[in-house]
Amino acid sequence: MPKKSKIKILFLSAEVAPLAKVGGLGDVAGALPQALIKLGVDIRICLPFYGLINQKKYPTKKIINRLAVPTGDKNETIDVWQTSLPGTKISVYLIKHNFFNFKKIYLGKPANRPDDLKRFTFFTRAALTTAKKLNFKPDVIHANDWHTGLTADFIKTLNRQNNFFAKTKTLYTIHNLASQGKAKPEIVGYAKIDRNLAIIKVDAGNNDINFMVQGVLGSDLVNTVSPTYAKEILGHYQGANLEKILKKRKSDLYGILNGIDTGFFNPATDNLISQKYSLKNLDKKTANKLALQKQLGLPIDKNIALIGLISRLVWQKGLDLITENFSRLNCQFVFLGTGQPELEQQLLALAKKFPSQFSAQIKFDEKLAHLIYAGADIFLMPSRFEPCGLGQMIAMRYGTVPLVRATGGLADTVNGKTGFSFKKYSGEKLYKTLWRALKIYYDQPKTWRQLQLNGMRKDFSWKKSAKEYLKLYKKLANAKK
Ligand code: ADP
Repeated sequence: MPKKSKIKILFLSAEVAPLAKVGGLGDVAGALPQALIKLGVDIRICLPFYGLINQKKYPTKKIINRLAVPTGDKNETIDVWQTSLPGTKISVYLIKHNFFNFKKIYLGKPANRPDDLKRFTFFTRAALTTAKKLNFKPDVIHANDWHTGLTADFIKTLNRQNNFFAKTKTLYTIHNLASQGKAKPEIVGYAKIDRNLAIIKVDAGNNDINFMVQGVLGSDLVNTVSPTYAKEILGHYQGANLEKILKKRKSDLYGILNGIDTGFFNPATDNLISQKYSLKNLDKKTANKLALQKQLGLPIDKNIALIGLISRLVWQKGLDLITENFSRLNCQFVFLGTGQPELEQQLLALAKKFPSQFSAQIKFDEKLAHLIYAGADIFLMPSRFEPCGLGQMIAMRYGTVPLVRATGGLADTVNGKTGFSFKKYSGEKLYKTLWRALKIYYDQPKTWRQLQLNGMRKDFSWKKSAKEYLKLYKKLANAKK
């Protein structure tokens, strides 16, 4: 790569916030490219043109008409539309095809609808066809999660046919190892991937083609969303049965922490909270606690510790550790989340039995979430596993002290200077850690204030993470083929 030219990245994702988002993948895809262009990267994003993308809000224009995309079924055609990532000049190429005309991003496998494995195989292939048509020769294709796990297979196959992508390298980011994308072997024929690729042969033994496995084994480099999670997934418990595969890439596997949107999550400018505040006037934070207690119907008392938890209510998040026993602690709790019915019931039952101590808000509510981040004293994340986790970083930005289980990104972001953590997954450990935290809260206000300030001073912006990604891109672009 000549020194002065910008490094060129094609970024493939099934979600890009705010255009189309279900979860964390969308957040990363919407935020990381913005931080990267500030570092001088030429990054273009490719996303399916889902029926749910709001064209009134996000103006689009057609840039390619009827482009043939070869598949084993027949030669399909796509149109390519272009929009930009809102508020930026970053091009987003939208792949238009019947597969994506739905109001949902993921369809699962419903009868008489195309299945997601086929849809995202097609999307990945179509994205490469689009890049070629636009004569955009990326130094690196950055693929994300199982949906685009076949990128490297396509590149290897295409490189046997022509040299357009001959110098292109691939980076594969694992956001969620639990979701892998397992297809029947026929997908190889549909995708027109070279059957003789060594990585296809690895999968053939299991009688499925696992897109996550293909991404991990086929890509030039692999990363996940925190350094600790990158180590943990090499072991049995977290590995979702892929530890053997991941170990093969151990020396090419990196952990890069996600960032948070420090503009959106900023107590000094946040319009969703009751009272703005900053490092300089942290006492004002208390007004948010009083507003929160009032809104929830908890006793209004600035002196009692308030513990917040905001989460999808799923197995991963460790909610089963919170029991009736916790009512013996001198504090109030607020839980905000939705998810598995039995976990929702568990929290509702606590709130019913101890209404002056527990509040369970079973809903998705951005405004209440911000008020909890601002109004709580302690933020709880007792996760079983956590690839990165955003809540603990947001909490610290609001001077709310995190109490977490030391796993994945939680272990990387919370330490004794900024919060509390426990290692063993047990209710007793969580209880004791909370008890210890409360003791400091009540008896050592200066120490507590220092914890808050240390957290608020931490830099969780995307800028830091983007620099790490740029290092990987450069490593790839400068490597010999
Ligand atoms: P995950 O990606 O596993 O859901 P993270 O901690 O990485 O967990 O991110 C969760 C994000 O979603 C946080 O910003 C959190 O505040 C937000 N969130 C989760 N549940 C709710 C809810 N019920 N209402 C509002 N925001 C929520």
